[in-house]
Amino acid sequence: MSYNKHRKAVLKELETNQTSGLTNEQVKSRQEQFGPNTFKSEEKVKPLSVFLHTLREPIVIVLWIAIALSIASAFYDIYVNHDMEHAMSAVYETVAILAIILINSLVTFYQTLQAKKSLDSLKKMVDHHALVLREGDWSHVNVLDLVPGDIVKFKMGDFIEADLRILSANELSLNESHLTGESDPINKTTAALPDETGLGDQTNMAFSGSTVMNGSGLGVVVQTGMATELGKIAGMLQETPIAPTPIEKTIKNLTRTLMYVAAGIVAVVLIYGIAKEYMNYGAVTIEAVMANISSAIAVAVASIPDAMPVVLSIVLTIGAGIMARNNGLIKSLNSVETLGATTFIASDKTGTLTKNEMTVTNFFANGHTFEVSGQGYEPHGEVTLVDGVEEAAELLPLYERFITSALLNNEAAIQQSPDDGAYYPLGNPTDVSLVVLGAKIGQNHAALISQPAPDYNIIRVLPFDSTRKMMSMVVQKDDDFYVYTKGAPDVLFQKASAALIKDQLVDFAEAATIFDEKLNEFADQALRTIAVAERQVPEDLARNGSVAELETEFTILGLAGIIDPPRPEVKASIKKLHRAGVAVVMITGDHAATANAIALRLGIINAKSAPAITGAELKAMSDEELLQRVEHTRVYARVTPRDKQRIISALQQNSEVVAMTGDGVNDAPALKTADIGIAMGINGTEVTKDSADLILLDDKFTTIEKSVEAGRQIFGNIRNFIRQELVTNVSEVLSLLLVTFFVTRPIGQVSELTPSLTAVMVLWVNMISDSLPSFSLGFDNAEKDIMLQKPRNMQEPILNKRMLERVALRGFTMGLMVFFAFIWAAKNGFSPAQAQTTAFLMLVFGQLWHIFDARSERTIFARNPFSNKVLLLTVAFAGISSVLVTYLPLFHKVMGTAQLPELVILALLFISAIPTFLISGIKEMIYRRQCTAVKNKLQNEED
Ligand code: ADP
Ligand code: MG
Repeated sequence: MSYNKHRKAVLKELETNQTSGLTNEQVKSRQEQFGPNTFKSEEKVKPLSVFLHTLREPIVIVLWIAIALSIASAFYDIYVNHDMEHAMSAVYETVAILAIILINSLVTFYQTLQAKKSLDSLKKMVDHHALVLREGDWSHVNVLDLVPGDIVKFKMGDFIEADLRILSANELSLNESHLTGESDPINKTTAALPDETGLGDQTNMAFSGSTVMNGSGLGVVVQTGMATELGKIAGMLQETPIAPTPIEKTIKNLTRTLMYVAAGIVAVVLIYGIAKEYMNYGAVTIEAVMANISSAIAVAVASIPDAMPVVLSIVLTIGAGIMARNNGLIKSLNSVETLGATTFIASDKTGTLTKNEMTVTNFFANGHTFEVSGQGYEPHGEVTLVDGVEEAAELLPLYERFITSALLNNEAAIQQSPDDGAYYPLGNPTDVSLVVLGAKIGQNHAALISQPAPDYNIIRVLPFDSTRKMMSMVVQKDDDFYVYTKGAPDVLFQKASAALIKDQLVDFAEAATIFDEKLNEFADQALRTIAVAERQVPEDLARNGSVAELETEFTILGLAGIIDPPRPEVKASIKKLHRAGVAVVMITGDHAATANAIALRLGIINAKSAPAITGAELKAMSDEELLQRVEHTRVYARVTPRDKQRIISALQQNSEVVAMTGDGVNDAPALKTADIGIAMGINGTEVTKDSADLILLDDKFTTIEKSVEAGRQIFGNIRNFIRQELVTNVSEVLSLLLVTFFVTRPIGQVSELTPSLTAVMVLWVNMISDSLPSFSLGFDNAEKDIMLQKPRNMQEPILNKRMLERVALRGFTMGLMVFFAFIWAAKNGFSPAQAQTTAFLMLVFGQLWHIFDARSERTIFARNPFSNKVLLLTVAFAGISSVLVTYLPLFHKVMGTAQLPELVILALLFISAIPTFLISGIKEMIYRRQCTAVKNKLQNEED
């Protein structure tokens, strides 16, 4: 318990020091003593249980049944038939299926661990850090390494990462709702409290998991990990398991459905086969039953896309990697899918759409208008009077009170680098611009408050927040007390009672029109505007007044116009998004005219008159009205974080998929509401990063655009491989069924009981010759026109009508080809094994051709076949190894393959290409004709 002691006593007890922190030795020994600062149990992936789990997948269960049947038939051959050779073939089949189960399990196992590893490393990049004092230096320390006695500094937007006794607090308020249920922020102080103070009243403590809603503070860690108040209630938390993505669920359901379908087909095949025997011969032999069972096994194996779940998880993980390389960090694989379907992107203006490099270019003070030269942070530039008649030698006296207020009420600074002499900003960019202005005329903040004879003594700081839209400092000068405030002009004007014009204090009402005109003049030039004010207050109010009591009855000293240039690359990104059917919305705390001027420059709107909705209008608007207007509104100005949530909800009610950026602590709820919450990696607060789905490592809007494109690309790749896998399954099942139903008499050496493919051949195709190339589709680039299409409809299932039609058409043609290859071989006197091998190679080659068609939404002719090296390698591997298994005696036994004449292999290689090229060719012709038709139509309209 440390709330009831003086803070010095607490420090002493913890053997630490407020000015230098712990020593490295202390830290080390305490880390050993207290362990990591977490209450999540280190999630140990138990490899064995992951592995065992892979053996219980529904698909694998089908294979276990196949093995059981195979073993039964081996026993039957040995003991009843005394046919050792036949028995051995059943044994080989068993071994082969077992081997494939093992390979599949190992791949799944490896992939599960790998996917977890790469997700973990993505998550590591967003690990929480705290600003900690050790050995006299402040540095960012991973919160896992915090120990009791550490001195921690925190500010608005941070998480409290351990239980702290507060050592100093500056307008500090924390949200502790996770512990107390109280959702209003609690003000924090440092004084010791009486014994027996309840948790909710321990105002000198900051508890783990709280968020800093306002102000800043310094604290000493008293408890970590499980010993914190949060740890006590939460107990050991398991890391939340990785939730399946919608596509993962779809595929799971699909495989389950297909298992039922398979069971049905197997039953039909068995019954029909046996009935066929009976009709033909008037009796049913055991051999016939056994042969039928072996076809049934092949059908069962053929109907399930075994490799699909693994391939899916590989493709999704590849996708997360692609995004990370683009500086977009996603926290769950779900976001990959959602990003591609995004229809609205609502972005902050400052820093995301603009550079956040602010420079004061104009200001209006004491009734005079000034211009400022010089760019960036260089403190070199001239202030000139633009509308002055007087040729004043000294300009400074004209605006001295304005600049004093702007500089005193400011925590920013610029710093000259010793290396290159360039100036770097420190602190809030808006404040930096005022510091630079001061430096240009030789004034600075440090000088105003420097010892030993300070002109001003700062006694309170009321930091900026985006709801109040202003910041203030309470300052003592001699025996007088002042509040210096700066903030959004329209907000300050409403609370102004006077203004300073030509050294005269006038009633604000008299000056209001001048200020409004200036405000609009600046805003129309896309300048960000800040009003600067002061107010003299009595001592009691100065020391104890609330924020609302202090920030009112202002005397307006002037108005600054600050340029914040748009990021140059954003315009192109917005154009690209517009073509892709994605709407871009600007949300800003800035003035409507400023917002519209920038929106126009960036192409978010195309006419200056496009209506912007302001926070005040939004407040007055009913939900129904907002619902109407939200579809067409592209600029929201002077909004508060709360408004963001209303905007998102309205869009979502219109079935839009909304991505929303946020940077401040108050944005967290909006980020959670959005389909994709986006946080800034550099300037964002810890709290927003925590609630986001996507983190922009470079804070740039263009990264959002690239992530949307990557999302579409990955989704497209997923669709492509699903297409490929399903076509394989359809053709396998079809070729097997056609033999069962249409071959009623022996053909040549081939009996009517011989299936077109053995079960192990089918397995080979599913697990090797088809699945390897399928997964390499995950490496495919985006199709050329991917950002020219409308966003995908999230409601539509991935197996939509178009996909099903395409799979059915290709699957049927391929199935027929395989069937006819089998019949042709039988008619030409091939052995059963050779006939099956002919069918097998037809299938393998056909699929390897088809994959080049599957990788495009359009046709095989739409993509450069050589652009994906991994695909080429896997296709070559699949083709060559599949031919090899027809030569090697071992595989003859295991798979039931047989050697074929080279000429036949060669013929199969080319004939198998026919359906793909034929269907694709016809489609391409229709497609091109449509394109010309559209072009002609456009041409005619133009003429
Ligand atoms: P945005 O992030 O959309 O630019 P902000 O919430 O940061 O909006 O700012 C809204 C308004 O608050 C600005 O237009 C400006 O007038 C005022 N403002 C911004 N930063 C400061 C600051 N550091 N001090 C005083 N006022 C500020
Ligand atoms: Mg801002």
